[in-house]
Amino acid sequence: MRFDIENWPIRDWLIKNWRKPVLYVFPEGLILLGALVYTHSHWLQNTLGAFADLYPYAVFGAGVLLGWRFHRSRLLFALLLMTVGDRTLAHFAAGNGLGRDHVVFQAISVLLPLNLAALALTAERGFVTPPGLVRLAIIGIQIAVVALFDRTMPGPTAALLHLRLLPPGLVRWTPLADPALLAFLVALGLQLAGQLMSPTSTQRSYLWAIAALFLGVNGLRPGNPDPMTFYLATACLILIAAVVEASYHMAYEDSLTGLPARRALNEALLRLGGHYTLAMADVDHFKNINDRHGHDVGDQVLKMVAAKLALVGGSGRAFRYGGEEFAVLFPGKSVEECLQELETLRQTVEETRFILRSRIRSRRKRAEPVVAEKGPGTRVPVTISIGVGEKDPRHTKPDQVVKAADRALYRAKEGGRNQVRT
Ligand code: GH3
Ligand code: MG
Ligand code: MG
Repeated sequence: MRFDIENWPIRDWLIKNWRKPVLYVFPEGLILLGALVYTHSHWLQNTLGAFADLYPYAVFGAGVLLGWRFHRSRLLFALLLMTVGDRTLAHFAAGNGLGRDHVVFQAISVLLPLNLAALALTAERGFVTPPGLVRLAIIGIQIAVVALFDRTMPGPTAALLHLRLLPPGLVRWTPLADPALLAFLVALGLQLAGQLMSPTSTQRSYLWAIAALFLGVNGLRPGNPDPMTFYLATACLILIAAVVEASYHMAYEDSLTGLPARRALNEALLRLGGHYTLAMADVDHFKNINDRHGHDVGDQVLKMVAAKLALVGGSGRAFRYGGEEFAVLFPGKSVEECLQELETLRQTVEETRFILRSRIRSRRKRAEPVVAEKGPGTRVPVTISIGVGEKDPRHTKPDQVVKAADRALYRAKEGGRNQVRT
Protein backbone atom coordinates (compact mmCIF):
# COMPACT_ATOMS: atom_id res chain seq x y z
CA MET A 1 0.00 0.00 0.00
CA ARG A 2 1.30 3.45 -0.86
CA PHE A 3 1.00 6.39 1.52
CA ASP A 4 0.28 9.54 -0.41
CA ILE A 5 0.93 12.30 2.11
CA GLU A 6 -0.08 14.97 -0.42
CA ASN A 7 -3.68 13.76 -0.20
CA TRP A 8 -3.97 13.57 3.55
CA PRO A 9 -6.68 15.97 4.67
CA ILE A 10 -4.79 16.33 7.95
CA ARG A 11 -1.75 17.61 6.06
CA ASP A 12 -3.52 20.87 5.14
CA TRP A 13 -4.86 21.18 8.65
CA LEU A 14 -1.38 20.74 10.08
CA ILE A 15 0.15 23.27 7.71
CA LYS A 16 -2.51 25.84 8.66
CA ASN A 17 -2.61 25.08 12.39
CA TRP A 18 0.90 24.03 13.39
CA ARG A 19 1.44 27.38 15.03
CA LYS A 20 -1.39 26.95 17.53
CA PRO A 21 0.22 24.35 19.82
CA VAL A 22 3.57 26.06 19.33
CA LEU A 23 1.99 29.31 20.53
CA TYR A 24 0.89 27.56 23.71
CA VAL A 25 4.37 26.45 24.72
CA PHE A 26 6.44 29.25 23.28
CA PRO A 27 8.22 30.96 24.96
CA GLU A 28 6.90 30.21 28.45
CA GLY A 29 6.99 26.41 28.25
CA LEU A 30 10.53 26.50 26.90
CA ILE A 31 11.67 28.65 29.82
CA LEU A 32 10.14 26.23 32.31
CA LEU A 33 11.68 23.28 30.50
CA GLY A 34 15.07 25.01 30.68
CA ALA A 35 14.61 25.53 34.42
CA LEU A 36 13.70 21.85 34.89
CA VAL A 37 16.73 20.70 32.92
CA TYR A 38 18.94 23.00 34.99
CA THR A 39 17.69 21.75 38.36
CA HIS A 40 18.23 18.14 37.26
CA SER A 41 21.67 18.55 35.72
CA HIS A 42 24.68 18.64 38.08
CA TRP A 43 26.89 19.48 35.16
CA LEU A 44 24.87 22.59 34.32
CA GLN A 45 24.72 23.62 37.95
CA ASN A 46 28.51 23.28 38.29
CA THR A 47 29.13 25.16 35.06
CA LEU A 48 26.64 27.98 35.60
CA GLY A 49 26.77 28.14 39.40
CA ALA A 50 28.19 31.67 39.54
CA PHE A 51 25.52 33.01 37.17
CA ALA A 52 22.75 31.19 39.00
CA ASP A 53 23.39 33.32 42.09
CA LEU A 54 22.85 36.43 40.00
CA TYR A 55 19.82 35.03 38.17
CA PRO A 56 17.09 36.13 40.63
CA TYR A 57 18.55 39.63 40.90
CA ALA A 58 18.88 40.00 37.14
CA VAL A 59 15.29 38.85 36.59
CA PHE A 60 13.98 41.11 39.32
CA GLY A 61 15.85 44.12 37.92
CA ALA A 62 14.71 43.45 34.35
CA GLY A 63 11.13 42.92 35.52
CA VAL A 64 10.98 46.17 37.50
CA LEU A 65 12.48 48.09 34.60
CA LEU A 66 10.09 46.56 32.08
CA GLY A 67 7.03 46.91 34.31
CA TRP A 68 7.83 50.51 35.01
CA ARG A 69 8.70 51.59 31.44
CA PHE A 70 5.93 49.59 29.73
CA HIS A 71 3.33 50.46 32.40
CA ARG A 72 2.72 46.80 33.20
CA SER A 73 1.47 47.13 36.76
CA ARG A 74 0.46 43.49 36.96
CA LEU A 75 4.05 42.46 36.30
CA LEU A 76 5.16 44.77 39.12
CA PHE A 77 2.58 43.29 41.48
CA ALA A 78 3.60 39.75 40.52
CA LEU A 79 7.26 40.63 41.20
CA LEU A 80 6.28 42.11 44.54
CA LEU A 81 4.22 39.06 45.54
CA MET A 82 6.92 36.60 44.58
CA THR A 83 9.72 38.58 46.20
CA VAL A 84 7.80 38.93 49.46
CA GLY A 85 6.95 35.21 49.39
CA ASP A 86 10.51 34.21 48.64
CA ARG A 87 12.15 36.47 51.21
CA THR A 88 9.68 35.41 53.92
CA LEU A 89 10.38 31.74 53.26
CA ALA A 90 14.12 32.38 53.22
CA HIS A 91 13.82 34.22 56.53
CA PHE A 92 12.02 31.37 58.26
CA ALA A 93 14.20 28.73 56.66
CA ALA A 94 17.33 30.48 57.94
CA GLY A 95 15.91 30.44 61.48
CA ASN A 96 14.44 27.18 62.60
CA GLY A 97 14.01 25.20 59.42
CA LEU A 98 10.97 25.15 57.18
CA GLY A 99 9.14 21.86 56.96
CA ARG A 100 5.74 21.11 55.53
CA ASP A 101 4.23 21.74 58.96
CA HIS A 102 5.30 25.35 58.98
CA VAL A 103 2.34 27.71 58.93
CA VAL A 104 4.16 30.34 56.85
CA PHE A 105 5.09 27.81 54.18
CA GLN A 106 1.53 26.54 53.85
CA ALA A 107 0.03 30.04 54.00
CA ILE A 108 2.31 31.29 51.23
CA SER A 109 1.52 28.19 49.17
CA VAL A 110 -2.18 29.01 49.49
CA LEU A 111 -1.96 32.74 48.89
CA LEU A 112 0.64 33.08 46.13
CA PRO A 113 -1.14 31.05 43.43
CA LEU A 114 -4.50 32.63 44.26
CA ASN A 115 -3.04 36.13 44.10
CA LEU A 116 -1.34 35.41 40.78
CA ALA A 117 -4.58 33.99 39.40
CA ALA A 118 -6.45 37.09 40.56
CA LEU A 119 -3.86 39.33 38.88
CA ALA A 120 -4.25 37.43 35.61
CA LEU A 121 -8.01 37.92 35.70
CA THR A 122 -7.92 41.66 36.34
CA ALA A 123 -7.00 44.51 34.04
CA GLU A 124 -3.99 46.84 34.02
CA ARG A 125 -4.94 49.56 36.48
CA GLY A 126 -1.58 51.14 37.28
CA PHE A 127 0.63 50.84 40.34
CA VAL A 128 0.55 54.24 42.02
CA THR A 129 -3.11 54.85 41.17
CA PRO A 130 -6.19 54.43 43.40
CA PRO A 131 -6.90 50.86 42.10
CA GLY A 132 -3.18 50.07 42.36
CA LEU A 133 -3.07 51.28 45.96
CA VAL A 134 -6.12 49.12 46.74
CA ARG A 135 -4.22 46.12 45.37
CA LEU A 136 -1.19 47.04 47.49
CA ALA A 137 -3.44 47.29 50.53
CA ILE A 138 -4.96 43.85 49.81
CA ILE A 139 -1.48 42.33 49.68
CA GLY A 140 -0.50 44.12 52.90
CA ILE A 141 -3.64 42.90 54.67
CA GLN A 142 -2.90 39.29 53.68
CA ILE A 143 0.62 39.53 55.13
CA ALA A 144 -0.69 41.13 58.33
CA VAL A 145 -3.44 38.52 58.75
CA VAL A 146 -1.01 35.59 58.34
CA ALA A 147 1.45 37.16 60.80
CA LEU A 148 -1.30 37.93 63.31
CA PHE A 149 -2.88 34.48 63.16
CA ASP A 150 0.50 32.78 63.41
CA ARG A 151 1.44 34.81 66.50
CA THR A 152 -1.84 34.80 68.37
CA MET A 153 -3.29 31.38 67.58
CA PRO A 154 -0.67 29.18 65.95
CA GLY A 155 -2.54 25.94 66.78
CA PRO A 156 -5.85 26.65 65.02
CA THR A 157 -4.06 28.40 62.13
CA ALA A 158 -1.87 25.36 61.53
CA ALA A 159 -4.91 23.09 61.83
CA LEU A 160 -6.78 25.19 59.27
CA LEU A 161 -3.89 25.12 56.81
CA HIS A 162 -3.54 21.36 57.23
CA LEU A 163 -7.22 20.51 56.88
CA ARG A 164 -7.66 17.10 55.29
CA LEU A 165 -9.71 17.65 52.17
CA LEU A 166 -8.23 15.13 49.74
CA PRO A 167 -7.60 11.36 49.99
CA PRO A 168 -4.19 11.02 51.80
CA GLY A 169 -2.95 8.37 49.35
CA LEU A 170 -3.28 10.89 46.54
CA VAL A 171 -1.12 13.64 48.02
CA ARG A 172 1.79 11.89 49.69
CA TRP A 173 4.26 13.05 47.03
CA THR A 174 4.00 16.74 47.85
CA PRO A 175 4.94 18.83 50.91
CA LEU A 176 1.83 20.94 50.27
CA ALA A 177 -1.12 20.34 52.57
CA ASP A 178 -4.57 19.97 51.05
CA PRO A 179 -5.65 23.66 51.19
CA ALA A 180 -2.48 24.73 49.33
CA LEU A 181 -2.93 21.97 46.75
CA LEU A 182 -6.51 23.04 46.21
CA ALA A 183 -5.40 26.67 45.87
CA PHE A 184 -3.03 25.63 43.09
CA LEU A 185 -5.75 23.56 41.44
CA VAL A 186 -8.18 26.49 41.55
CA ALA A 187 -5.55 28.95 40.26
CA LEU A 188 -4.47 26.69 37.40
CA GLY A 189 -8.08 25.72 36.64
CA LEU A 190 -9.13 29.37 36.39
CA GLN A 191 -6.33 30.15 33.94
CA LEU A 192 -7.01 27.04 31.91
CA ALA A 193 -10.74 27.77 31.71
CA GLY A 194 -10.09 31.40 30.75
CA GLN A 195 -7.59 30.23 28.17
CA LEU A 196 -10.10 27.85 26.61
CA MET A 197 -12.86 30.46 26.49
CA SER A 198 -10.88 33.39 25.13
CA PRO A 199 -7.15 32.78 24.83
CA THR A 200 -4.92 35.68 25.83
CA SER A 201 -1.14 35.70 26.06
CA THR A 202 -1.26 37.24 29.55
CA GLN A 203 -3.41 34.47 30.93
CA ARG A 204 -1.28 31.85 29.25
CA SER A 205 1.84 33.32 30.86
CA TYR A 206 0.22 33.27 34.33
CA LEU A 207 -0.71 29.63 33.77
CA TRP A 208 2.95 28.81 33.21
CA ALA A 209 4.12 31.08 36.04
CA ILE A 210 1.82 29.30 38.51
CA ALA A 211 3.20 25.99 37.22
CA ALA A 212 6.75 27.26 37.92
CA LEU A 213 5.66 28.34 41.39
CA PHE A 214 4.25 24.87 41.96
CA LEU A 215 7.60 23.30 41.11
CA GLY A 216 9.28 25.78 43.47
CA VAL A 217 7.18 25.00 46.53
CA ASN A 218 7.43 21.28 45.82
CA GLY A 219 11.21 21.46 45.57
CA LEU A 220 11.43 23.11 48.96
CA ARG A 221 13.14 21.03 51.65
CA PRO A 222 13.63 22.01 55.29
CA GLY A 223 16.34 24.65 55.54
CA ASN A 224 16.72 24.88 51.79
CA PRO A 225 14.90 27.76 50.11
CA ASP A 226 17.03 27.71 46.94
CA PRO A 227 14.70 25.82 44.58
CA MET A 228 11.98 28.23 45.66
CA THR A 229 14.06 31.29 44.76
CA PHE A 230 15.11 29.70 41.49
CA TYR A 231 11.58 28.77 40.40
CA LEU A 232 10.06 32.05 41.59
CA ALA A 233 12.66 33.87 39.51
CA THR A 234 11.72 31.58 36.62
CA ALA A 235 8.04 32.42 37.13
CA CYS A 236 8.98 36.12 36.94
CA LEU A 237 11.07 35.48 33.81
CA ILE A 238 8.05 33.79 32.22
CA LEU A 239 5.89 36.85 32.92
CA ILE A 240 8.62 39.15 31.57
CA ALA A 241 8.95 37.11 28.38
CA ALA A 242 5.19 37.33 27.92
CA VAL A 243 5.21 41.12 28.27
CA VAL A 244 7.97 41.35 25.65
CA GLU A 245 6.02 38.99 23.34
CA ALA A 246 2.81 40.96 23.80
CA SER A 247 4.61 44.24 23.09
CA TYR A 248 6.03 42.78 19.89
CA HIS A 249 2.53 41.78 18.78
CA MET A 250 1.18 45.20 19.70
CA ALA A 251 3.78 46.82 17.46
CA TYR A 252 3.35 44.49 14.50
CA GLU A 253 -0.30 43.49 14.65
CA ASP A 254 -3.36 45.61 14.05
CA SER A 255 -5.57 45.33 17.13
CA LEU A 256 -8.89 45.89 15.33
CA THR A 257 -8.55 43.32 12.56
CA GLY A 258 -5.80 41.06 13.88
CA LEU A 259 -3.95 41.39 10.56
CA PRO A 260 -0.25 42.24 10.56
CA ALA A 261 0.14 46.01 10.49
CA ARG A 262 1.95 48.41 8.17
CA ARG A 263 5.19 48.10 10.12
CA ALA A 264 5.15 44.34 9.45
CA LEU A 265 4.56 45.00 5.73
CA ASN A 266 7.45 47.48 5.55
CA GLU A 267 9.81 44.97 7.12
CA ALA A 268 8.52 42.12 4.97
CA LEU A 269 9.17 44.27 1.87
CA LEU A 270 12.72 45.01 3.00
CA ARG A 271 13.40 41.32 3.64
CA LEU A 272 12.17 40.26 0.19
CA GLY A 273 15.08 39.79 -2.15
CA GLY A 274 13.54 38.67 -5.40
CA HIS A 275 10.43 39.40 -7.34
CA TYR A 276 7.09 40.19 -5.72
CA THR A 277 3.67 41.65 -6.39
CA LEU A 278 1.86 44.04 -4.10
CA ALA A 279 -1.85 44.83 -4.17
CA MET A 280 -3.48 47.75 -2.36
CA ALA A 281 -7.15 47.25 -1.51
CA ASP A 282 -9.43 50.07 -0.35
CA VAL A 283 -13.03 49.88 0.83
CA ASP A 284 -15.34 51.77 -1.53
CA HIS A 285 -17.30 54.73 -0.14
CA PHE A 286 -16.30 53.74 3.34
CA LYS A 287 -16.93 57.25 4.59
CA ASN A 288 -20.58 56.79 3.64
CA ILE A 289 -20.80 53.58 5.68
CA ASN A 290 -19.36 55.42 8.68
CA ASP A 291 -21.64 58.41 8.20
CA ARG A 292 -24.77 56.40 7.62
CA HIS A 293 -24.37 53.61 10.18
CA GLY A 294 -21.82 54.90 12.66
CA HIS A 295 -18.17 54.31 13.38
CA ASP A 296 -18.79 51.01 15.20
CA VAL A 297 -20.44 49.48 12.15
CA GLY A 298 -17.53 50.83 10.10
CA ASP A 299 -15.15 48.99 12.41
CA GLN A 300 -17.10 45.76 12.03
CA VAL A 301 -17.07 46.08 8.26
CA LEU A 302 -13.29 46.52 8.42
CA LYS A 303 -13.04 43.34 10.51
CA MET A 304 -15.14 41.42 8.00
CA VAL A 305 -13.12 42.66 5.03
CA ALA A 306 -9.90 41.81 6.87
CA ALA A 307 -11.18 38.31 7.60
CA LYS A 308 -11.88 37.77 3.88
CA LEU A 309 -8.53 39.18 2.81
CA ALA A 310 -6.73 36.97 5.33
CA LEU A 311 -7.99 33.94 3.40
CA VAL A 312 -6.16 34.97 0.22
CA GLY A 313 -4.62 32.05 -1.64
CA GLY A 314 -1.53 31.79 -3.80
CA SER A 315 1.05 32.44 -1.03
CA GLY A 316 -0.42 35.93 -0.54
CA ARG A 317 -0.37 37.63 2.85
CA ALA A 318 -2.77 40.39 3.88
CA PHE A 319 -1.86 43.44 5.97
CA ARG A 320 -3.82 46.39 7.30
CA TYR A 321 -2.06 49.31 5.69
CA GLY A 322 -3.98 51.94 7.64
CA GLY A 323 -7.56 53.22 7.92
CA GLU A 324 -9.70 51.31 5.43
CA GLU A 325 -6.74 50.39 3.24
CA PHE A 326 -5.24 46.93 3.10
CA ALA A 327 -2.23 45.49 1.32
CA VAL A 328 -1.74 41.97 -0.02
CA LEU A 329 1.82 40.84 -0.66
CA PHE A 330 2.69 37.96 -2.99
CA PRO A 331 6.37 37.06 -2.67
CA GLY A 332 7.95 35.55 -5.79
CA LYS A 333 4.84 36.16 -7.94
CA SER A 334 4.20 38.25 -11.02
CA VAL A 335 1.06 40.37 -11.44
CA GLU A 336 -0.44 37.87 -13.89
CA GLU A 337 -0.04 35.06 -11.37
CA CYS A 338 -1.95 37.02 -8.70
CA LEU A 339 -4.82 38.52 -10.66
CA GLN A 340 -7.11 35.51 -10.24
CA GLU A 341 -6.58 35.46 -6.45
CA LEU A 342 -7.28 39.18 -6.24
CA GLU A 343 -10.36 38.93 -8.40
CA THR A 344 -11.62 36.16 -6.10
CA LEU A 345 -11.05 38.43 -3.09
CA ARG A 346 -12.93 41.31 -4.67
CA GLN A 347 -15.80 39.00 -5.55
CA THR A 348 -15.88 37.38 -2.09
CA VAL A 349 -16.21 40.76 -0.39
CA GLU A 350 -18.91 41.85 -2.84
CA GLU A 351 -20.89 38.65 -2.32
CA THR A 352 -20.63 38.65 1.45
CA ARG A 353 -23.88 39.88 2.96
CA PHE A 354 -23.10 42.41 5.66
CA ILE A 355 -26.33 42.60 7.59
CA LEU A 356 -27.09 45.28 10.09
CA ARG A 357 -29.32 43.98 12.86
CA SER A 358 -31.69 46.94 12.88
CA ARG A 359 -33.70 45.62 15.86
CA ILE A 360 -30.79 46.28 18.17
CA ARG A 361 -29.89 49.54 16.48
CA SER A 362 -33.32 51.10 16.80
CA ARG A 363 -34.15 49.97 20.33
CA ARG A 364 -30.84 50.62 21.97
CA LYS A 365 -29.20 53.34 20.03
CA ARG A 366 -26.05 53.46 22.03
CA ALA A 367 -25.65 49.70 22.31
CA GLU A 368 -22.92 47.97 20.33
CA PRO A 369 -24.30 47.47 16.82
CA VAL A 370 -24.32 43.96 15.49
CA VAL A 371 -23.25 43.12 11.99
CA ALA A 372 -23.88 39.63 10.75
CA GLU A 373 -23.40 37.75 7.52
CA LYS A 374 -26.80 36.03 7.71
CA GLY A 375 -30.33 36.72 8.89
CA PRO A 376 -32.84 39.54 8.51
CA GLY A 377 -31.90 43.21 8.74
CA THR A 378 -30.58 46.07 6.64
CA ARG A 379 -28.01 44.97 4.11
CA VAL A 380 -24.92 47.18 3.92
CA PRO A 381 -23.34 46.80 0.49
CA VAL A 382 -19.57 46.57 0.80
CA THR A 383 -17.12 46.42 -2.08
CA ILE A 384 -13.39 46.95 -2.44
CA SER A 385 -11.20 48.33 -5.21
CA ILE A 386 -7.78 46.82 -5.78
CA GLY A 387 -4.68 48.26 -7.45
CA VAL A 388 -1.74 45.99 -8.27
CA GLY A 389 1.95 46.78 -8.70
CA GLU A 390 5.02 44.59 -8.98
CA LYS A 391 8.75 44.85 -8.63
CA ASP A 392 10.21 45.47 -12.10
CA PRO A 393 13.13 47.44 -13.59
CA ARG A 394 11.15 50.69 -13.27
CA HIS A 395 9.99 50.01 -9.72
CA THR A 396 12.82 48.42 -7.78
CA LYS A 397 12.34 49.92 -4.32
CA PRO A 398 9.43 48.96 -2.02
CA ASP A 399 8.03 52.50 -1.87
CA GLN A 400 8.06 52.68 -5.69
CA VAL A 401 6.05 49.45 -5.87
CA VAL A 402 3.62 50.79 -3.23
CA LYS A 403 3.21 53.99 -5.28
CA ALA A 404 2.61 51.98 -8.47
CA ALA A 405 -0.07 49.93 -6.70
CA ASP A 406 -1.59 53.15 -5.33
CA ARG A 407 -1.79 54.63 -8.84
CA ALA A 408 -3.49 51.46 -10.06
CA LEU A 409 -5.90 51.72 -7.13
CA TYR A 410 -6.70 55.29 -8.16
CA ARG A 411 -7.49 54.01 -11.66
CA ALA A 412 -9.78 51.36 -10.18
CA LYS A 413 -11.63 54.08 -8.23
CA GLU A 414 -11.83 56.31 -11.30
CA GLY A 415 -13.03 53.38 -13.37
CA GLY A 416 -16.10 52.97 -11.16
CA ARG A 417 -14.79 51.09 -8.08
CA ASN A 418 -15.36 47.41 -7.17
CA GLN A 419 -12.65 46.27 -9.59
CA VAL A 420 -9.05 45.09 -9.85
CA ARG A 421 -6.63 47.25 -11.90
CA THR A 422 -2.94 46.92 -12.75
P1 GH3 B 1 -13.42 55.84 -1.79
O1 GH3 B 1 -14.42 54.93 -2.40
O2 GH3 B 1 -12.91 56.85 -2.73
O3 GH3 B 1 -12.31 55.06 -1.15
O4 GH3 B 1 -14.17 56.62 -0.65
P2 GH3 B 1 -14.01 56.47 0.89
O5 GH3 B 1 -15.15 57.16 1.52
O6 GH3 B 1 -13.81 55.07 1.25
O7 GH3 B 1 -12.61 57.20 1.09
P3 GH3 B 1 -11.99 58.09 2.19
O8 GH3 B 1 -10.52 57.80 2.18
O9 GH3 B 1 -12.38 59.51 2.00
O10 GH3 B 1 -12.62 57.59 3.55
C1 GH3 B 1 -11.93 56.88 4.48
C2 GH3 B 1 -12.65 56.99 5.80
O11 GH3 B 1 -12.30 55.89 6.61
C3 GH3 B 1 -12.29 58.21 6.57
C4 GH3 B 1 -12.14 57.74 8.00
O12 GH3 B 1 -13.05 58.38 8.85
C5 GH3 B 1 -12.50 56.28 7.94
N1 GH3 B 1 -11.66 55.45 8.78
C6 GH3 B 1 -10.33 55.36 8.78
N2 GH3 B 1 -9.94 54.45 9.69
C7 GH3 B 1 -11.05 53.95 10.29
C8 GH3 B 1 -11.30 52.99 11.32
O13 GH3 B 1 -10.39 52.37 11.88
N3 GH3 B 1 -12.58 52.73 11.65
C9 GH3 B 1 -13.61 53.39 11.05
N4 GH3 B 1 -14.85 53.09 11.42
N5 GH3 B 1 -13.42 54.32 10.10
C10 GH3 B 1 -12.16 54.60 9.72
MG1 MG C 1 -8.98 55.40 1.50
MG1 MG D 1 -12.14 54.02 0.59
